[in-house]
Amino acid sequence: MVRMRVLELQFYPLVLGLRSIEIYGEGIKPALERGKGFDGSSVLLAPVEKSDLLLRPDKHTLYQYPWDPEVAGVICDIYTFGGEEYELSPRYILKKTLREAEERGYRMLGSVEIEFFVLSREREFLDRAGYFTPHPSDRGFQLRREVAKALEEIGISVDYGHHEVAFSQHELTLRVDEALEMADKTVKARFVLKNIAEKMGLFVDLMPKPFIGINGSGQHIHLSLSDVKTGRNLFAGDGTSLSKLALNFIGGIIHHMKALSAIVAPTVNSYKRLVPHHEAPTSLSWDYINRTTAIRVPGATSKRSVRVEFRVPDNTSNPYLTFAAILASGLHGIDEGMDPGEPLNDNAWRIDEKLDSLPSTLGEALDELERDSYLKRKLGERAVSKYVELKRREWRDYLKSNEWDVNVVTDWEVEKYSGYI
Ligand code: GLU
Ligand code: MG
Repeated sequence: MVRMRVLELQFYPLVLGLRSIEIYGEGIKPALERGKGFDGSSVLLAPVEKSDLLLRPDKHTLYQYPWDPEVAGVICDIYTFGGEEYELSPRYILKKTLREAEERGYRMLGSVEIEFFVLSREREFLDRAGYFTPHPSDRGFQLRREVAKALEEIGISVDYGHHEVAFSQHELTLRVDEALEMADKTVKARFVLKNIAEKMGLFVDLMPKPFIGINGSGQHIHLSLSDVKTGRNLFAGDGTSLSKLALNFIGGIIHHMKALSAIVAPTVNSYKRLVPHHEAPTSLSWDYINRTTAIRVPGATSKRSVRVEFRVPDNTSNPYLTFAAILASGLHGIDEGMDPGEPLNDNAWRIDEKLDSLPSTLGEALDELERDSYLKRKLGERAVSKYVELKRREWRDYLKSNEWDVNVVTDWEVEKYSGYI
């Protein structure tokens, strides 16, 4: 690595999205070795009278910024000064949940599809292209390519990219990896995407529903469990069908899905995306090759590629909490042998009123999470209570100046979420 002159310590608090502090010159080595204290109260992680927390870099995540070789970033864990991992740290919550899976012999693998709008700095569309439209009508291809190359340089493989259905909307899909790696990679990919767009004079909007009347942007997650010892895909049954374990995992996600929504679709704007006829889910449903259900089982060509796709998450989700909550739900399904019911085999939007619905606002989703004693226990009572308290504040803040109208994106949302990473 070229001599690093600036190191950015990056971390995810419970809410707020990515946070970062930079260290210069001689401070870098001690920060990498011993960590750096910070004010936990200002990122809503600790009370002001007990606010000092410690950021400890996970050196394995160190990455040089492709656009500036003198600057590197590193993802940090959050510790107390007593030397313990902080129970409200999302990355800790994920590691804890992964350990539980590992004790049962399971390793979770995931890949994420990042959908986003590429806009002018004034937030106008760059093109009127659609699904798979090639360049030059597709005006975002150069950005996608720059981002994919930059991510490759820092060890993040992008499987594919393309223009999405809506005007100026795009997708990049990251190559499958273990869940903690994938959560870190999601953070880095969002960050690199935003920054390279900025360098190119563009604006990338990761908001779930920036424009009414056209598709929003999801962050679908593809998941499977493999055997810790042999690496065998435990979601694969006979041939390329789903195993019983995979069906139970789906059963667990469906069982917890209403509460899960508060974590995987965690903003006011998320619920404007989850409406019919825009390729987003609206119900507690699953099916094969169906883009109207919350869980889709994509067609697989080999045992290794047998997986399930969860379509509720969006890019405002905290990647650590998201993987942790999905895994905890799936494990519950496996432990209790939960039956997901029959695959829907129909268009979920057409028969919407017959199906159990996803929450229709952030407020409703938070009520569900508060009621879900299993998820609270698994993710940590204190962490979930704090999360719900902070997210309720966000919901109330929105309602102070706006009515709930699923068909309007307010200035409040654009201000709050369009810069979100
Ligand atoms: N953009 C859609 C969503 O909001 C998904 C489109 C797709 O299936 O890729 O989830
Ligand atoms: Mg897509």
